[in-house]
Amino acid sequence: MADAHRMLVAPGMAGSNPSREATSAVVLALLVTAFDVWMLGGAVVSYFAVDQGIPALVIARKSAGLAGLLVAQAAFFWASCSSPGPIRAAAWLCFTAVTLLQYGFVAAAGGVFNTHDIPMALQSVKYWPTMIREFTDWRALVPSGMFAAALLFHRDTAHAWLRRWALAVALLVIVHGAYARAHFVRLEFGRADAVAPPMASFQSFLRTLALAASDSLEETLRPYHRQEVAHLAATLPIRHVLLVIDESVSAGHLSLEGYDRATTPWLEQLDREGRLTRWAGAASATVYSNSSFLALVTGFNAFPDPAHRVFTLPTIFQFAKAMKYRTHLFDGQMDVRRFGLTTSDMRFVDDWQHATGFGDDPDTDARIGHAVARVLEEPAGQFVLVMKRGNHAPHENNYPKGPGRWPPDDDHHVAADLERVAVTNSYDEALRYNVDAFFRALLQPDGTLPRTVGIYTSDHGEELGGDGVPAMTRKLLPEVVAVPLLMFGDDRPRVDTSYRASHLNVFPTLLDLMNVPLQARPWTYSRSLLVAKATDRDPRPVFVGNMFGGGDYHESKDFDAIVGTPAAAALR
Ligand SMILES: [Zn+2]
Repeated sequence: MADAHRMLVAPGMAGSNPSREATSAVVLALLVTAFDVWMLGGAVVSYFAVDQGIPALVIARKSAGLAGLLVAQAAFFWASCSSPGPIRAAAWLCFTAVTLLQYGFVAAAGGVFNTHDIPMALQSVKYWPTMIREFTDWRALVPSGMFAAALLFHRDTAHAWLRRWALAVALLVIVHGAYARAHFVRLEFGRADAVAPPMASFQSFLRTLALAASDSLEETLRPYHRQEVAHLAATLPIRHVLLVIDESVSAGHLSLEGYDRATTPWLEQLDREGRLTRWAGAASATVYSNSSFLALVTGFNAFPDPAHRVFTLPTIFQFAKAMKYRTHLFDGQMDVRRFGLTTSDMRFVDDWQHATGFGDDPDTDARIGHAVARVLEEPAGQFVLVMKRGNHAPHENNYPKGPGRWPPDDDHHVAADLERVAVTNSYDEALRYNVDAFFRALLQPDGTLPRTVGIYTSDHGEELGGDGVPAMTRKLLPEVVAVPLLMFGDDRPRVDTSYRASHLNVFPTLLDLMNVPLQARPWTYSRSLLVAKATDRDPRPVFVGNMFGGGDYHESKDFDAIVGTPAAAALR
């Protein structure tokens, strides 16, 4: 009987033992999950926290999700360990690539890849080589190595390998489909549901893809339409209004804000001469470019945004057109529409100029400054939104090569123990080269700018500590959340700059500067900086994570709790 059985088995399949392979797969799934959760700081206790609903049901549902993820991971290992050579090689490569990506992303950005990061990563392909170089985390080879060992241990191809793959794929689709469905219907059990389940980083990647698929399905099924601005001004405006959004500029690295290196000597001089109106150490709305941009151009002020109000509130361009401004969008970073702006949104932009025209080098922003200055020669009021190229990592690309003012910098090979210092030196070098030069190109030689009020800020700051320079940081750190906020131009109204300001104040300030009547404003915007006083204590939440919430990681923290007291923030 045993011989007869053996004769039915093809060569290379003799040793296949379904139960031993299944046991190995389960053990491997447990080990890999435990290692990833431990190394990547996955939450276990807080995942099971219940602050809404019937505790037993919520915990049962969460446990089922967790068990599903484990079983699906085990099924993937099981199918791999019983497949023919090329299939196991492909499974291993795929698993290793995803695990390396996830570990690298945690090193770079402080968390695993989420749905929000997909469009962001695709937007910033040019930063990939630096990111990959700086953020390869070799710990990822531990789970990858464990998987390789299991593949070598179970070397035989099973008859049923194709069926096992069918089972594994079905399980993965069911488990991640369930998460995607919960995301789609916004099934949430209170704030604790922002915590992702503790899972292997490979499963976490698949979950992100599933949530992203749910998002794009939602976009197809429920296309967004922005509210219209009903008001129309009777006369042409005379005054120009500008919003300048810098890239990755920490308030704490500008000498204008008290930094001990002279990074912005000219702005300091203008400040002393009373040509600037400055709120020290202001709060960014979020720690990402896209969400901060949307808060600044739609006035949305209550992240997370499950109703996708950033896609339905009127943009600043709609208000500017309603007030009869000619509108300009000058983008020093991108050639494509910014995330959240549709082709119909772009109908409200009369003049869109982007990176192709301005070039991609340390002088891009100076060219933009000159271009804006030319636009402001027009007799009628202009609205200009400038998205600066600024100081995105790698910072050594943001100033001319050569011996810098603060050596060593990243222009040259740097000894391992000086890498952190070099990153900071390069960052400061770039600020010194860039920020004053932009304003020199834009303002008159004496720092004046007739018939104009401009607001200047940065989308978020930059993290310079740790292992290097994350290009897409998402940590709630003082240097990331404290941004510059100032007004320039000769038509600046008198204001109280001891008010504790935030990005959230910028949009209503622009509406006031354009004289948009109150009844034309469809949202409860934050306080305008033109009326805010020192005694007004408005919350300054800073948001991190998926801006739409919906079961993906997100968190909001008060600015003062992140940076300490306002006085300390100003000095930092
Ligand atoms: Zn940014």
